[in-house]
Amino acid sequence: MPALSTPPATAPLTISMDDRDNVAIVANDGGLPAGTVLTSGLVLRDHVPQGHKVALVDLPAGAAVRRYNVPIGFALKDIPAGSWVHERLLEMPKARELEGLPISTARPGPQPPLEGYTFDGYRNPDGSVGTRNILAITQTVQCVAGVTGFAVERIKKELLPKYPHVDDVVALEHTYGCGVAIDAPDAVIPIRTLRNISLNPNFGGEVMVVSLGCEKLQPERLLPPGSIPLVDERNVADIGENAEARLDVVCLQDEAHVGFMSMVDSILRQAEEHLERLNARRRETVPASELVVGVQCGGSDAFSGVTANPAVGYCTDLLVRAGATVMFSEVTEVRDGIDQLTSRAATPEVAQAMIREMAWYDAYLDRGRVDRSANTTPGNKKGGLSNIVEKAMGSIVKSGSSPISGVVPPGERARQKGLLYTATPASDFICGTLQLAAGINLHVFTTGRGTPYGLAEVPVIKVATRSDLARRWHDLMDIDAGRIATGEATIADVGWELFRFMLDVASGRRKTWAEHWKLHNALVLFNPAPVT
Ligand code: CA
Repeated sequence: MPALSTPPATAPLTISMDDRDNVAIVANDGGLPAGTVLTSGLVLRDHVPQGHKVALVDLPAGAAVRRYNVPIGFALKDIPAGSWVHERLLEMPKARELEGLPISTARPGPQPPLEGYTFDGYRNPDGSVGTRNILAITQTVQCVAGVTGFAVERIKKELLPKYPHVDDVVALEHTYGCGVAIDAPDAVIPIRTLRNISLNPNFGGEVMVVSLGCEKLQPERLLPPGSIPLVDERNVADIGENAEARLDVVCLQDEAHVGFMSMVDSILRQAEEHLERLNARRRETVPASELVVGVQCGGSDAFSGVTANPAVGYCTDLLVRAGATVMFSEVTEVRDGIDQLTSRAATPEVAQAMIREMAWYDAYLDRGRVDRSANTTPGNKKGGLSNIVEKAMGSIVKSGSSPISGVVPPGERARQKGLLYTATPASDFICGTLQLAAGINLHVFTTGRGTPYGLAEVPVIKVATRSDLARRWHDLMDIDAGRIATGEATIADVGWELFRFMLDVASGRRKTWAEHWKLHNALVLFNPAPVT
């Protein structure tokens, strides 16, 4: 629980995360000038910008600088009390070795179940539940993107008005499919990502594919027999025990197509079959345990770990208590807290799976001759985050305090409930794309610097770490967690607010700002394999 010096916000306000910390961050908008006297009597020697750290005691050269009661760096020279502690004064600690980690040693006990919370969703043939009713058009290769995009515009104009119970039509555009080493071992990641995205709960089990014809990623390789759910007898290729869903493919190089419009007409004709079935669906009341929520952060600042991420972490615990699924990700942002995670693993197998994902990613970064420190951005540093260790300590709190019950490798679909570590890079677009593949029906995104991020496939709820950002971006941010820093709201208040907002958004009763403005980022596949 962060310790606040005195509110109201106009007085000098600093926040330390743990009694043993020897730095605190300045919370005031615009920072605090040199000469400011803090409530403790400490006088600032420098101007300290908002979100940046001030030394609470004299830090001799070599001393550990502690925030979250963790060494986030070592002083490169003597730093007197009251100084601005910025990244140029710190040496970053080495990454924790992956050997000898605590395994399931601090597994939290069960929390009381949270019962009686529901939302209105779309029940799917495979048992999953959608929060939106969307026709998705899967593509095997980037070559077809222009034609599909053209057809989707026409579907929106000409067909959607006839099917009022369908929320949207989305082309799953990506840059994969050809010009890639498709038999490389790591190519399994982008391929299964695309497959699992087309099976996302928000698409109702309707799978429609547009293919070019000559591409490496052939439709049968993308969606092999047996991978698509049986939606309706009309899409079944056989009957009885051999029943198998027929893959609906529009192939542009098919000889039947004469001219561009013939391709577009084929796509429209096929789309209409799916739209009819989707339009017949209705929302039904389902328990909150059917939520599958992906959490991530982007454009983080020093407040991320003080306000928005702890509120998300609180909400994560509520969701887990309600029996729902929550995924946290972003490997470079949890790498420095791996010991916290392995100790919270529900079983030794889960801890080992987490270590395996970290080791794989260490090797992946090493191949590119970088390490986890390549994560931080100029904006993170301007926002007061000195390095990846400090960023990670603030990021990891999104995972709350529940036991970690499973690990989902990149591109795989989650097959269990509870708190899951879904291994993805921290890149906002790649993380979002991989969480879509893992089966999320809701996405929560925290930001301090501010980003208009959104996804066409699932609603994205954006949580601002600072009230200043929430005020300026009043029609982009859904939740203001900055009130935690000023003492106007508690972490629990904002956690509950987010939980209730999620149920409303999941039910379609409310839209997020990104949905309202149709702000959609591209799908970006994680392809660690070579291109050709
Ligand atoms: Ca991110």
